[in-house]
Amino acid sequence: MAEDKKKASALDGAVMTAEGLSFKGVIMNPVVENCIGCERITEFEGLTYCPSYAQPATKWTRGICNFATHMKGTLDKQGKAKVNPLKASKRAARGR
Ligand code: SF4
Repeated sequence: MAEDKKKASALDGAVMTAEGLSFKGVIMNPVVENCIGCERITEFEGLTYCPSYAQPATKWTRGICNFATHMKGTLDKQGKAKVNPLKASKRAARGR
């Protein structure tokens, strides 16, 4: 009985419209390259979306997305992830 239940998708109720994927009245944009690896990414009809944020590109304009599960810290001028060296050292000492 319980095996028949499908796991609820984060985008349940979303509808593909002419403008794009509509979810709870908001048009969702597909995830961007920086999002790759994030656990929040959800697939819908062959494209990938973020159920936490409708416009993933905007979340990356001022640094690392604060909802990202795969990256923490800030971005340097070249757009690469930059982690506070003191915090990184403490994390390494704790074995994380
Ligand atoms: S939470 Fe941020 S990094 Fe993750 S998919 Fe959404 S916009 Fe991308």
